[in-house]
Amino acid sequence: MPDAVKKLVAAADAQVAGHAAPAVAAPAPASNDKEEDSEVALSAKIAERLAELRERQQARASAAVRAKKAADTRRKQEEQAAAAAIAVANAPKRGTVWSYEGELGPANWSKINDGWAKCGTGNRQSPIDLRDGIKVNLEQISFDYRPTSFSEVNNGHTISVTVGGGNFITVGNSTYELQEFHFHRPSEEKINGKGTEMVIHMVHRSVEGKIAIVAVLLERGQPHSLVQTIWDNLPLEKNEVVSPSIVLDPMDALPEKREYFTYMGSLTEPPCSEGVLWLVFKQPRQASPAQMALFSRLYPLNARPVQPTAGRMIKESN
Ligand SMILES: [Zn+2]
Repeated sequence: MPDAVKKLVAAADAQVAGHAAPAVAAPAPASNDKEEDSEVALSAKIAERLAELRERQQARASAAVRAKKAADTRRKQEEQAAAAAIAVANAPKRGTVWSYEGELGPANWSKINDGWAKCGTGNRQSPIDLRDGIKVNLEQISFDYRPTSFSEVNNGHTISVTVGGGNFITVGNSTYELQEFHFHRPSEEKINGKGTEMVIHMVHRSVEGKIAIVAVLLERGQPHSLVQTIWDNLPLEKNEVVSPSIVLDPMDALPEKREYFTYMGSLTEPPCSEGVLWLVFKQPRQASPAQMALFSRLYPLNARPVQPTAGRMIKESN
């Protein structure tokens, strides 16, 4: 066997096996014919080994291509997932569920719905602590209320009473019609840092769409006849509207004395819209402990915390 051939075989063996070539047993010297035969056999063997080698190299190459493809797919999937997460974070928020405590509570209202941004960024928000008011001769609020039909609903945030049309207040040369009134516990507004056990908010709207809210604080004492009428007709189910066949007189909600605080604020629940005229009576009305206890079973806490006054003017009756 010629040395050149031996080396080729050894090299092929080494490449195929991946380690040093085994010692090739030198065949005994033979005749020319025999030598030619073994050279043919060796050439065939070499060709076979080389083919084997090429096959393995191809297999390794295609495995590498497959691995790269898989890695590319994975990266693409990760990029798509990241893009989707960003899209979700940037998507318009249209939540409608809110509460007075926890994750959906007042501190997070502005994050629930893009339309509720004012709850977080507004600087004319309600309620506030009414103090350091400018004492002036405030004009009397003129009440033009009458016995009226009503419906009530437990809307998941409060007991809300919607009244029929025809009940007006006039203040500051503007007339507003009573739409609805509802209850909070404890009172949302404070006077010199002190709140009361409950409050009634009477929501009025002008023909131009301006809102004026009259607040009547409630403290423990004698039974409140209008409150009792509302409690007597409570719906059994949340969001079920009941329309009793009786009338109520919104005048019965008001205190005897009509001095009040006034300032510009907002709705005290989402969307926290500003431009609301607040009229808060100084004198509280009374409701009985039993009447208070009944509401507290439904809503032990449904009050937004006080908001910064932020330099707003507060006026109060002398
Ligand atoms: Zn309210």
